[in-house]
Amino acid sequence: MKAIRIPLSAPDVTEAEIEAVAKVLRTPQLSLGPKLEAFERAAADYVGASHAVAVNSGTSGLHLCIRCLDIGEGDEVIVPSFTFIAAANVICMERATPVFVDIDPATLNLDPQKVEAAITPRTRAILVVHTFGRPADMTALVDIAKRHRLRVIEDACEAIGAEYHGQKVGAIGDAGVFAFYPNKQITTGEGGMIVTNDAAVATMARALRNQGRGNPGEWLEHTLVGYNYRLSEMQCALGLEQLRRVESILVRRAEVTAMYDQQLRGNPDLTLPQLHIPEGRISWFVYVARLSDRFQRHHRDAIVAALREQGIGCGRYFAPIHLQPAYQDLPRPHHPLTVTEHVGARSIALPFFNRISPADVQEVCERLQDAIRAIPS
Ligand SMILES: *Cc1c(COP(=O)(O)O)cnc(C)c1O
Repeated sequence: MKAIRIPLSAPDVTEAEIEAVAKVLRTPQLSLGPKLEAFERAAADYVGASHAVAVNSGTSGLHLCIRCLDIGEGDEVIVPSFTFIAAANVICMERATPVFVDIDPATLNLDPQKVEAAITPRTRAILVVHTFGRPADMTALVDIAKRHRLRVIEDACEAIGAEYHGQKVGAIGDAGVFAFYPNKQITTGEGGMIVTNDAAVATMARALRNQGRGNPGEWLEHTLVGYNYRLSEMQCALGLEQLRRVESILVRRAEVTAMYDQQLRGNPDLTLPQLHIPEGRISWFVYVARLSDRFQRHHRDAIVAALREQGIGCGRYFAPIHLQPAYQDLPRPHHPLTVTEHVGARSIALPFFNRISPADVQEVCERLQDAIRAIPS
């Protein structure tokens, strides 16, 4: 296979950010120090939440939300299948059951009508994903949750800075999580952040991430069976600097989507993401184009392979969770996931990162359209 010249994603770390990390390394406090406090304060302020708890990954953050909301064996949690597998895994980790519900083909987010139809006496929560950074229909979902006394967890791992009717996503529900893996809008290498307006959730999450210590002053007193989900001071220093320029990062990423849109618009073989939405702001995580109905999964795979052969990194976002080998033992049949399977077979994530050049975008679009033309109709 050819070396990748234009990657699917690339972190954007400045010299000043490298220096901020190095500065921490010259101090004696490499964990649980002032950078953690500052990063949490900045994240809470940015989102407009009362509390933020930094953790070592988005997955850890989601896991703590499940535990802090007391979801466990015998409980069902509604979650999309068209998303990253961690969203379902954290439900399984606490022996609860993920109940996959189909998405709306226009937004690629949970379809509220189908969510309501999937509620049973065992349903405890809806794990809402803001897919690809586009805010989910929170008005409808929160309304459903209120009527059925369900908790709402927002998986905002792809959506930092996304806005829904003037409110940043994350703390619209009971608790939400951001992630800082290197392919996300901002990165700490590995990392995550829980945001919530619920003081009890924040206190319990803070204890659980630190081996169940109720009071960090008492290092060997553990009030809960917890985890080591801590984020180091170096990572917090990086996250703090990245968060300081998140607005310019989001603007830049929106500019890249406009470049793609301009090049690909009008191609009848492609459905492109909507660039602007009346309900708020998209925080662009990835740029995903979808092949039209006449194409099948193997056509999509051939196009992805052709692009990779030319050194262009592409992704199949998302391979539905319910089709993953790890999920074949879940009780069946489940709710129809027709849209999830249809979209999952036809999606292509194109190279998308802050510093991608207009020339690279143009090349990706030309090669993509060549590869589509090479498929016999
Ligand atoms: C990235 C991501 C996560 C968490 O990822 P980590 O790698 O654990 O930080 C969770 N859910 C979704 C939808 C994601 O995209």
